[in-house]
Amino acid sequence: MFCACANSFGDEPNTNVCPVCMGMPGALPTLNKFAIEQTILSGMLLGCSTPPISKWDRKSYFYPDMPKNFQTSQFDLPLCLGGEVPLYENCFPTDAKNAAKISKSSIALTRIHLEEDVGKSTHVAGATLLDFNRAGTPLMEIVSEPDITTAEEAYAYIKSLQQILIVGGISDADMEKGQLRCDVNISLRPHTQSHYGAKIELKNLNSISAVRRAIQFEILRQAEELDLGIEQIQSTRRWDDDAGESYLMRTKEDAHDYRYFTCPDLVPLHTAAIIEQVKQRIPELPHQKLQRYQQQLELNPAEAALLSADVSLSAMFESMLGFEKESPKKLASWLVNTLVGYCKENELELGTLALDAKQLSQVFGAIQQGSISSSQSREVLAAWLQKPESNIEDLLKALGFGKADDSQLEGWVETVVTANSDKVNEVLGGNEKLLNWLTGQVMKLAAGKTNPKLATEALRKRIGL
Ligand SMILES: [Zn+2]
Repeated sequence: MFCACANSFGDEPNTNVCPVCMGMPGALPTLNKFAIEQTILSGMLLGCSTPPISKWDRKSYFYPDMPKNFQTSQFDLPLCLGGEVPLYENCFPTDAKNAAKISKSSIALTRIHLEEDVGKSTHVAGATLLDFNRAGTPLMEIVSEPDITTAEEAYAYIKSLQQILIVGGISDADMEKGQLRCDVNISLRPHTQSHYGAKIELKNLNSISAVRRAIQFEILRQAEELDLGIEQIQSTRRWDDDAGESYLMRTKEDAHDYRYFTCPDLVPLHTAAIIEQVKQRIPELPHQKLQRYQQQLELNPAEAALLSADVSLSAMFESMLGFEKESPKKLASWLVNTLVGYCKENELELGTLALDAKQLSQVFGAIQQGSISSSQSREVLAAWLQKPESNIEDLLKALGFGKADDSQLEGWVETVVTANSDKVNEVLGGNEKLLNWLTGQVMKLAAGKTNPKLATEALRKRIGL
């Protein structure tokens, strides 16, 4: 945040350090412009406001993995104020999708500030190992209002936030890599009381589902104690996910007096110019994309939700639309059902597939033209992934696929019409629904070498509709 050390995960301990982040006497900090831009952009994505002037403050406390004995943070003039995180439906826990446990559409934010991270300590038998690589790396802290009322809302909040940060290009927000971390504060109150009870903080939450489990446990634990007349005191507890329990770490008596004061080494920042610059980078957010997919492209809600929620899937959809503008609905459905299904079964990642959007559009195009059926497109995908250098025409030929010629199609239509003269008469009598059934019969005979549209046309021509 204030030096030029590399910020990378998993390097040898204490290799990304310098006098500034190690807090050597006389070393002077320099602001990281990109970190500030990323924070202001995050604020814009979440509807925050940015004060015209923002400044840095020293938060004094001693901690073994913080070499300076103070953390450079932001106290009264953070980069972002207010805002909210919309709760996306596809981010609800799968077992709580329709439950009444999520009653809100968004969670209000208090502020977002930027500070430096601390190092990492690992406790081994008889010793503590310190790695300062992370010390001094930028840490964006997003603080929400006490607006979350259930464990499920907390789950949806983090998942939705994660999606927005990924789409915005702010962070990969991977909890396993420590790119997204979370502290949870839980306070209970009787239904009849307006102010909250003592604030209990939970630490060591390593996954979004652990956050949910920890909150569920902690609400029950506090409620049980309160019912027994045991008063809660402000404290910090450690969550043990394996045991499914929380343990007391410290109470308010040990709380720090941080003695915040304005950092004498860093001048306050005028934000106007950065705001103007960052505005150009605001991407379409998942909920805006969802709305466009449903309203403009008329995709069905489930497919639109899947496409808008997944960054690499929606990127693929958008680039394929460049080649296949005519039928976004069919394209969406092929992507979500066939292509994603194929990738899952074969443990392939869409983002690193050997075929690009143009080639995948050609596979989809072959379905549209009636050369192959949707299920046959899997065979084409498999063959093409084996031989990415070949072209679609050669592949279709090699696999024995191809559009039937007119005389072949007429032959199948003739067979179906002759065998079903009673049904043909019904169609002629006005039962148009049976025409679909007859089309199905032709499709069976054609074994994928035509498409329903061509088959129906040929049938209509044959029976004089
Ligand atoms: Zn450094």
